[in-house]
Amino acid sequence: MKEEYFEYIPCPVCNGEQLEEFFKIAFGRLKQKRSLDYSCLGIHQGSILKVSRCKGCKFVFVNPRVRREYEHLVYNQSKQNMYLNKGRYTVGTVENRDFARQRKLKYFSIFPKMLNYVNPSDSLRLLDIGCGFGHILSLAGELGIESIGVDIDEFRLDYCRQLGLKVFSPSEFKTCYEGESFDLIVCQSVIEHVIDLNEFLSFIDSISKEKSILYLNGVTPYLIRKENRRGMFVKAHFVEHVNYFYNSTLDFFMSRAGFKPASHEIIIINSRKIRIPLKLARVMRPKTGFFERIYIRS
Ligand SMILES: [Zn+2]
Repeated sequence: MKEEYFEYIPCPVCNGEQLEEFFKIAFGRLKQKRSLDYSCLGIHQGSILKVSRCKGCKFVFVNPRVRREYEHLVYNQSKQNMYLNKGRYTVGTVENRDFARQRKLKYFSIFPKMLNYVNPSDSLRLLDIGCGFGHILSLAGELGIESIGVDIDEFRLDYCRQLGLKVFSPSEFKTCYEGESFDLIVCQSVIEHVIDLNEFLSFIDSISKEKSILYLNGVTPYLIRKENRRGMFVKAHFVEHVNYFYNSTLDFFMSRAGFKPASHEIIIINSRKIRIPLKLARVMRPKTGFFERIYIRS
């Protein structure tokens, strides 16, 4: 690994410096995706990736991690082969229709989950942070929700623009929307990638207001144990997935920007809404290694 691209950090959640080793593994033991090439970061099969746990707040995170200023190497340069000549990423092909349909079906459930906490008759504005291929933005459009997306992947931004979606790079967004806030904020499979969590939290803070609803999902430390038991590291992929939250750690982190977990989870059975207290919902849920949460700003 090229040392100049990586740095050791204190706990980004509580700033604690008392860290313990949680896990380490050679890059060669992670699932190798032919489309991704991390050689630009000096990562090779024998490179050891290390994961720390904070003794204070129990946050689990990759440490050392890529420095913020080299993030583009992970999210643009290393992915150059990923999109080459792939029908699924070419707007208008049959493969693309199939890809978009499958993803939209997967993400659709985010909407009833969020809209349970707002008046659905209000005019609503949604910001999708890490909007990827714009599936959530397209679905929001169908529901009459004004939606805007931000992403750092240039290929995906260009793809979304071809679909006529309103998307921006982080710097473009800052220029166009400085000081504006959103009713609905979606961070779908984003927080595990975030290199600078404090910058991320300030951003969430800046674009939210009282009663903003935040949808957040990501990975928990249990995922590392689970994939280790199976001997297959797919989602516990320590180059891109650098943050692993327990419930309590995430609640503490989000509270720093005034967000509280919704006190109930609402599930819909036979068109009826059933409210389950959050504590009960957390106990009932099987351990999967993934979390999915709704936060409300107070
Ligand atoms: Zn901590």
